[in-house]
Amino acid sequence: MNEQFNIETKCIQSGWKPKKGEPRILPIYQSTTFKYDTSEQMGRLFDLEDSGYFYTRLQNPTNDAVAEKICDLEGGYAAMLTSSGQAANFYAVMNIAEEGDHIVCSSALYGGTYNLYAHTIRKMGVEATFVDPDCTEEELNAAFRDNTKAVVGETIANPALTVLDIEKFARVAHEHGVPLIVDNTFATPINCRPFEWGADIVTHSTTKYMDGHAMTVGGAIVDSGNFDWEAHAEKFPGLTKPDETYHGIVYTRNFGKGAYITKATAQLMRDLGSIQAPQNAFLLNVGLETLHLRVPRHCENAKKVASYLKGHKKVAWVNCAMLEGDKYHDLAAKYMPNGTCGVITFGLKGGRDVAVKMMDSLKLAAIVTHVSDARTCVLHPASHTHRQMNDQELLEAGVQPDLIRFSVGIENADDIIADLEQALALV
Ligand SMILES: *Cc1c(COP(=O)(O)O)cnc(C)c1O
Repeated sequence: MNEQFNIETKCIQSGWKPKKGEPRILPIYQSTTFKYDTSEQMGRLFDLEDSGYFYTRLQNPTNDAVAEKICDLEGGYAAMLTSSGQAANFYAVMNIAEEGDHIVCSSALYGGTYNLYAHTIRKMGVEATFVDPDCTEEELNAAFRDNTKAVVGETIANPALTVLDIEKFARVAHEHGVPLIVDNTFATPINCRPFEWGADIVTHSTTKYMDGHAMTVGGAIVDSGNFDWEAHAEKFPGLTKPDETYHGIVYTRNFGKGAYITKATAQLMRDLGSIQAPQNAFLLNVGLETLHLRVPRHCENAKKVASYLKGHKKVAWVNCAMLEGDKYHDLAAKYMPNGTCGVITFGLKGGRDVAVKMMDSLKLAAIVTHVSDARTCVLHPASHTHRQMNDQELLEAGVQPDLIRFSVGIENADDIIADLEQALALV
């Protein structure tokens, strides 16, 4: 950790630290395996008695350097990369929940994460209760059960753009003896560091702003090291009781604050294998080096575009928490005083059909299943990412059927606005 550096410096300097004569740039360790001199040395690695590389599914030096950078940016204790944001959100929960357990989730989630928690992990025996992100503390309390193991939410939900009251969710989670897991993909650690507000674990789809160039799908999990698993040992036997697949080691006893990430690596990554390719980690690292330059520009452009849309007579509504009067303006000002993200949403008068016609007329903004990269792009969640949801589920996830998700890039804002202007003139 480099506590002494500011976040801009961490974007550049954290992670790979070459020693004398080593490459200045993070090398891609394009190797599945690592060599040892004796079988005794190798055996100790398999027993988690020594740390060291032996097989890339478990750990790889390129990936570890990039995970360390993300860990530093979030102010965490330990981190790991995963093949995708989906894998990160899956592992983050399944590392502490098992068959018969329960989690509490904000209903405003990325569509893929909603499916994962509402349907897929349910088939594995873990049930989720969804709560409105704006619920009262009483409503949130009422969602807990004896077998609840975690609370989950998104700093800025994709695409609902609700802002999570992290302090409130963390406080209630802690009152029930469970951690708060926050997906910080949209805010990025440049704009918000959930650990500073009491969150315990942060996840990322690094596919979005962290990569920033739409090159590589990836994910990350960061642990603050702050949650006291031992204080709730009965709830978290996976961390506090012997692991027979490693000769009875106890993660909290052997690894202290590193228990959660070590377990996720040693068990889930070992058995499920959703690793990030070292090549992808290398590209992700290049993206991270400019995260602190790109994110403020995304926000500045998004605010300009949102203001323009707000003043347009064909626009019915606009969501952008950076605008005065937005429902989440106050929460955003508290948690993200420097800006939220480049993604905004809006609806047009005339609804769904007009929205589709306008989108089809855009020239600079491309229709792609993506958000949060350098290029401006646009999507209609009800007919794309969230098309598996019925109207009721859509509304609960904060996605109106006419909602257009507009991911403002880092081009010149005037050109983005001119593109919208010509497309809006045609509807
Ligand atoms: C995209 C996204 C995910 C899923 O990430 P992938 O990298 O596409 O698997 C999870 N959470 C949020 C908030 C996202 O935007």
